[in-house]
Amino acid sequence: GENGHDRIDYVFKVVVIGDSAVGKTQLLSRFAKNEFRFDSKSTIGVEFQTRTVSIAGRVIKAQIWDTAGQERYRAVTSAYYRGALGAMLVYDITKRQSFDHLAKWVEELRAHANHSIVIMLIGNKADLAGDMRAVPMENAVDFAQDQGLFFSETSALSGDNVDAAFLRLLEEIYGVIA
Ligand code: GDP
Repeated sequence: GENGHDRIDYVFKVVVIGDSAVGKTQLLSRFAKNEFRFDSKSTIGVEFQTRTVSIAGRVIKAQIWDTAGQERYRAVTSAYYRGALGAMLVYDITKRQSFDHLAKWVEELRAHANHSIVIMLIGNKADLAGDMRAVPMENAVDFAQDQGLFFSETSALSGDNVDAAFLRLLEEIYGVIA
């Protein structure tokens, strides 16, 4: 632009995947708008949100895509993954099944996404840890290590670790492409 403040050096496409109801949409709205929406969402079609951040003096626009409910019907298409440089692979720490399905999601990424895609494993709903925890953190650390993923637990509800996890992913992407 005229004053140079809206210069964008890079656009990084990031996809958010994982089972239904793990908190993908809430993570996205927490990172993009610092909001947690208590109303139910409209889930027609694929949507993305953006947030511009600075990494190593570069202006990076993160374009973060939500499946918008497609994952319910196993209909996440290869168009969704096209051009993605990063993926947030999300499970719910209170739902063992969402963790047990991770291998399937990693397979899907390996099949459809770019080979150099950077993957961040996210154990969401960390605010419910304690009585409701169904996935010990060690299990996730082991899985992440085996599969070569970064890992963080987050809470979209409280906001804990959400920015840090997205920023870590964006930094790692920058490291790959720069
Ligand atoms: P999606 O289907 O993966 O996009 O999941 P949503 O973002 O729609 O979230 C599913 C449900 O989990 C909703 O009722 C959210 O309010 C709730 N939820 C999402 N993130 C969190 C979180 O960090 N903590 C808690 N306690 N609930 C969450």
